[in-house]
Amino acid sequence: MQFSELAAVFEKLEGTASRLEMTAILAALFTKMDRGEAERIVYLCQGSIAPAYEGIDLGVGEKFVIEAIALSSGQTRPNVEREYKRMGDLGLVAEKLLQKKAQMSLCTSELTVAKVFESFLRLAKLSGHGSQEGKIKSVAELLNNASVLEAKYIVRFTLGKLRLGVGDPTILDALSTYKAGDKSLRVKIERAYNLCSDLGYVARMFFEGGEVAVEKFKPAPLKPIRPALAERLPTAEEIYEKIAKNSEQKEVTVEAKYDGLRMQVHKTGKQVEIFSRKLERMTKMFPEIVQAALEINAKEFILEGEALAYSVKEKRYFSFQQTIQRKRKYGVEAMSKEFPLRLFAFDVLYLDGKDYTQIEYAKRRETLEQLVKKNKTIVASDQIIATNAAQVEKYFQKCIAEGLEGIIAKDMAAPYVAGARKFAWIKLKKSYGAMVDTVDVVICGYYLGKGAREEFKFGGLLGAVLNEDTGNFETIARIGGGFTEEEMVNFEEMLEKIKTKEKPKKLLSDVVPDFWTELKYVITVASDEITLSPMHTCGRVGDTGYALRFPRMVSLRDDKGPEDATTTNEIIEMYEMQRKGK
Ligand code: AMP
Repeated sequence: MQFSELAAVFEKLEGTASRLEMTAILAALFTKMDRGEAERIVYLCQGSIAPAYEGIDLGVGEKFVIEAIALSSGQTRPNVEREYKRMGDLGLVAEKLLQKKAQMSLCTSELTVAKVFESFLRLAKLSGHGSQEGKIKSVAELLNNASVLEAKYIVRFTLGKLRLGVGDPTILDALSTYKAGDKSLRVKIERAYNLCSDLGYVARMFFEGGEVAVEKFKPAPLKPIRPALAERLPTAEEIYEKIAKNSEQKEVTVEAKYDGLRMQVHKTGKQVEIFSRKLERMTKMFPEIVQAALEINAKEFILEGEALAYSVKEKRYFSFQQTIQRKRKYGVEAMSKEFPLRLFAFDVLYLDGKDYTQIEYAKRRETLEQLVKKNKTIVASDQIIATNAAQVEKYFQKCIAEGLEGIIAKDMAAPYVAGARKFAWIKLKKSYGAMVDTVDVVICGYYLGKGAREEFKFGGLLGAVLNEDTGNFETIARIGGGFTEEEMVNFEEMLEKIKTKEKPKKLLSDVVPDFWTELKYVITVASDEITLSPMHTCGRVGDTGYALRFPRMVSLRDDKGPEDATTTNEIIEMYEMQRKGK
């Protein structure tokens, strides 16, 4: 496929906010793909050249892209910079400045998708001494051969700012629509995606093998599985009733809910990889977990657990705040001695060639206990089997008294539902006011400090939740409290780097903060209750949406991305629970 065709599709996608329309545009694009192009085109639509867990970044900074535009357009650097200041988007600057040149010369060679993709790959691989010059030259070379529209998207792509507003759900819908004419195959394709987190790979399998190939899909070590999520209910009683009805013996498994770092540990032969909840590789940060995984007596496995740091000196476990200090690139060895991690394993998803995700939890747990029996670092999570609600409540109280976050009750008959929030797992956390749970919001803007806080450029955040049905983000709270001075300084620095002139395309907001930001960071927020409010767009019907009362920051959730934010439907459910509880 010619790259110009893809650039034209990007332009169309950018021009619409309707998910239906985006789906139709993408489905039409897929019908035009040649064999072997599916993988690359899907990655490009995601604004990347590989699945997110590979962590590949083209690594071209603005400075170098400005240089490349200057080189290719024959303009001076200050000229390009001036235009950038004026237009605020280097893609548009390239489009404008190359226009002048395009009118003068006709000597461009046609770009194909394959050619552009290969150039991006080479760009990503360039590193070390002299690599920046190489990157500038590569981008300039691409721009020399590009039409103005192609240039706009090449520039945005190399900067990591494609931002078409196309999410994975839309691509999944489009893949199904392309083959079936409707969304009927989405569930099957999505299952495969949830088992490998690699949409390009799934697209290729689907194109080559159709419905059968995605149906037969199995997890494999080194490809992270999208994590199962927990539902919530307000009382031990409701939790027990909900799960016990699926069990002949009326038995419910109840586990301690550890508040640490979720980890997916993969092993194949002598290779171990550790993925975070966001599916980023964290292997190098936790050598003691790698060592423990190597000691487990199985050739290949994927297991999941929650890791907590342990203080050797104080002989006690740390909470999330301290455990997260172990997420660092430097001083890893020393920290692993002083605050070693212990992984409380709670599931096994794959073992020696066999897919365990389809197997009922009771059996998975049995296998897990066998696997980690002799290990001191990776141990099975604490659990009881409850046969009535009072036992659930008692275990909950015991966990809270021990300083844990709460419990997670599990349905012993349920499979592992990758990437979904189902009643197979139900959490009960210690309460915050009338709220049954904290809320994870995406930062979408921030405010400047006022009054006593004037010395800080940072005075609060605007937070949004995810509407899963539309793929948009909806505001729910302005968070002005709960920050330490250090956090305020950190936010100021972090957010300065991602502030944007315009409201993000996928954000619905009537509130206007001092600065908008890219949708990148997630924070956990505690609040007193959910109220109805005309201010925020969360779940809005007519003039009324939902808002958080007295929201305050609990922690920055490095381990969560925007797609992991609390959803609008969860807020509505929590609001209903709160109403019933009053
Ligand atoms: P939440 O993040 O509040 O939705 O709670 C779900 C999280 O609890 C999971 O993502 C895990 O990181 C964590 N967790 C802690 N202990 C367990 C456990 N025993 N089973 C499952 N998840 C657990």
